[in-house]
Amino acid sequence: MAQPDTDGKKKWVYAFAPGRAEGGADMSELLGGKGANLAEMATLGLPVPPGFTITTEVCDAFFAAGNKLPEALKADVTKALDEVGTTVNAHFGDYKRPLLVSVRSGSRASMPGMMDTILNLGLNDKTVEGLAALTGDARFAFDSYRRFIQMYGDVVLGVDHGAFEDILENFKNLNGFAADTDLDEESWREIIADYKAAIEREHGKPFPQDTGEQLWGAIAAVFNSWHNPRAQTYRRLHDIPDDWGTAVTVQAMVFGNLGDNSATGVAFTRNPSTGEREIFGEYLPNAQGEDVVAGIRTPQPLTSKGAREAPGTALESAMPRAFNELKEIFDRLERHYHDMQDVEFTVQLGTLWILQTRSGKRTTEAALKIAVDLAAEGLISQDEAILRIEPAQLDQLLHPAIDPAAEHDLIAKGLPASPGAASGEIVFHSEMAEALKAKGRDVILVRSETSPEDVQGMHAAVGILTARGGMTSHAAVVARGMGRPCVSGAGTLRIDTNAGTMRAGARIFKSGDIVSIDGSTGRVYAGKAKMLPPQLSGTFATVMQWADGARRMKVRTNADTPRDARQAREFGAEGIGLCRTEHMFFEEGRILAVREMICAEDEEGRQQALDKLLPVQRADFEELFEIMAGLPITIRLLDPPLHEFLPHEDREAAQVAAALGMDLMRLKARVAELEEFNPMLGFRGCRLGIKYPEITRMQVRAIFEAAINAQKKTGDAVRPEVMVPFVAYRREFDVLREVIISTAEAVQRELGVEIPYDVGTMIELPRAALRAADIARGPAGADFFSFGTNDLTQTALGLSRDDAAPILSNYLEHEVISTDPFVTIDQGGVGELLKIGAERGRAVKPDLKTGICGEHGGDPKSIAFFESIGLDYISCSPYRVPIARLAAAQAAIRLRDAGKPQPSPEQE
Ligand code: PEP
Ligand code: MG
Repeated sequence: MAQPDTDGKKKWVYAFAPGRAEGGADMSELLGGKGANLAEMATLGLPVPPGFTITTEVCDAFFAAGNKLPEALKADVTKALDEVGTTVNAHFGDYKRPLLVSVRSGSRASMPGMMDTILNLGLNDKTVEGLAALTGDARFAFDSYRRFIQMYGDVVLGVDHGAFEDILENFKNLNGFAADTDLDEESWREIIADYKAAIEREHGKPFPQDTGEQLWGAIAAVFNSWHNPRAQTYRRLHDIPDDWGTAVTVQAMVFGNLGDNSATGVAFTRNPSTGEREIFGEYLPNAQGEDVVAGIRTPQPLTSKGAREAPGTALESAMPRAFNELKEIFDRLERHYHDMQDVEFTVQLGTLWILQTRSGKRTTEAALKIAVDLAAEGLISQDEAILRIEPAQLDQLLHPAIDPAAEHDLIAKGLPASPGAASGEIVFHSEMAEALKAKGRDVILVRSETSPEDVQGMHAAVGILTARGGMTSHAAVVARGMGRPCVSGAGTLRIDTNAGTMRAGARIFKSGDIVSIDGSTGRVYAGKAKMLPPQLSGTFATVMQWADGARRMKVRTNADTPRDARQAREFGAEGIGLCRTEHMFFEEGRILAVREMICAEDEEGRQQALDKLLPVQRADFEELFEIMAGLPITIRLLDPPLHEFLPHEDREAAQVAAALGMDLMRLKARVAELEEFNPMLGFRGCRLGIKYPEITRMQVRAIFEAAINAQKKTGDAVRPEVMVPFVAYRREFDVLREVIISTAEAVQRELGVEIPYDVGTMIELPRAALRAADIARGPAGADFFSFGTNDLTQTALGLSRDDAAPILSNYLEHEVISTDPFVTIDQGGVGELLKIGAERGRAVKPDLKTGICGEHGGDPKSIAFFESIGLDYISCSPYRVPIARLAAAQAAIRLRDAGKPQPSPEQE
């Protein structure tokens, strides 16, 4: 944390230089990830250019003062800048030996490319001459100056960067230049004059020549970039709090554009797509930092293995000394940080400099492999490996792949930038991607290259396709982080966003046309490709096995169809925590009988309908029991909000009337009588069975006949769990338990087989949670509780499940809530009810089984809470089962670790 300076004020500036630093990797809260890691690397003696970091506390003070930098900061910055100058034998603003710096953002969480950076700061009309004399390369000096003016004009002075691009393009066209590297000193001088004129015109003031003013403006602009729209969007998508703020790192410039023995690049210490232990990255010879990440020029690979063109172009062969040094540094960094690193470096006249290291973003596949490998290499423990995987990320593995055996219409090939496959309509703009996504359409965002502004569109798209940019371009890094398939650098595509066309050879595709991309091979196809279901890898199985060994809670699934049940078992479900029997009635052919049952005016009519439903239910349950082969299954008695089943259309009403032998008008009157204002708080759950016990009797008969049949068939012992929904009073439970027990006993007598079974209840109304002791008390009390957090959230918050969306989005906007309570459990309110319910239930029945089967059962944050209150199991939809297994393991490990005595700081 910030230490008081000698004069008692907080320390705002932390300096670093090779071999010494005032901070370290554990200070990212204050110094941002970048600043903290630069300090750490400096202490390790790695070649980092000297610099200093201004803390996130200054960022807070800046915003608190209405976007004004504290006056007292000036002295600290000047002093730190002097020290940097002394280290590199230069001086800020000096005409002869000018010190040039970069000014970079860096928050606690990495937000690649979302905030602003300024390079070459310190150049003006005088110092540029000094730089030219010093390097003996006037062309380079003036190129650096125009880059600085361009960046500064855009980021600090708010001049549209298009204005600069137009000037440069016009100049090149007029003078017949193709590449920027063709321009000589004189050309750059002319362009600089035009740039400065453009700034004066657009900004109303000349470009600042005072280097102090430049620095001050840049620091403020970088702080301000914390609030730019793309950073805000990124934070929202990645759950990064708005009040963290960014640090600012000011660092001596090194140059990768000083000729052919200079270069700049980005490297991952392992392959971020596959997790293979191999150096993976790209560089551009004779280029400056941002050129690689911006994806404007397609860079060269670092190793010969990855070489796309002649092998000699790889850094390994072009600059072997720098490459070998880099390799050694990567090893050291991995051993030090115990994780795969994403490193930015520059080679200046043959000398290697490291500009940044951070834990590298990776695909899920890579995350699994890296975690398992690091554990095998002894760098991390098995528990740590489990904690390294973001549970929600596992979803990525469940992406389909393009069927290699099927015929497809290949139209282009780019780089396999982020794995997985996707088909969708072409869109050329982020806003369009969002608009179509909102309508439920699948879109592929197609861009020449993506910029950080596209982050929202990338999130809305099912896949991303770019014509330019490499494997470490912004599009690739962000897509991998989001789990979106991405093909980048498909260079044969000609994309015209204004015209809304994509040309592939002679063929023209328009927005709305369907294409498919394969982010694992880089191939792009016309039309919708045939997909194959996902293959789960060996490392996935290993991590899951480790997770299963570490978790305490069981993981079940919510399933009511054989397909779901099978899928869930494949994903490792240990039973069914919720079979919603009403879902079994939706199918064509069954719904009529259900409608007859509901609309019947007397018991006889109802019984006739129930007789039709019995064999259907029995067959369904039998299949589930067989699939689950002895694993526990909780079957919930009918809980339909009736309105979901009522016949509304004339055709449907006529069908039901005919089946019941009823006059159509009378049937319509009956339907009207059954209509409710608030069906979700109406005649549902146990209320139904209490009024019409014959419905419960039919269901219980079906359950027990099915269980006994399945047991006979498979030999696996079954133990059905019958669950009563929507209970508020003990008496409701008693009435239905009586019906359940008498029917279960009757069936067992008839079939001559006894099976053990449990009768429990959902706890999904606040009263039930509060009166949990009543409901569980005694041998006739509930054998188990399953918390229905969907209804409990609805009823605790008084917020309708069906009408919540617009209210919640308004609440999120006004920061009344920070997360949707139907997604992540509201710990303070609904969570408290769960805790009370579980405690009071267990107090009277220590062996009471407790679980949760609302949607929250698949949400990692909620799962951590369920672990903390000691529930026995969680139940979630089949595709969430792997996520829940991992999240439950992480929760158990974290809780165990939190309970362990922590080492005192001296011991660390
Ligand atoms: C619940 O309310 O949490 C629950 C699981 O039941 P349903 O969603 O079917 O109402
Ligand atoms: Mg419910």
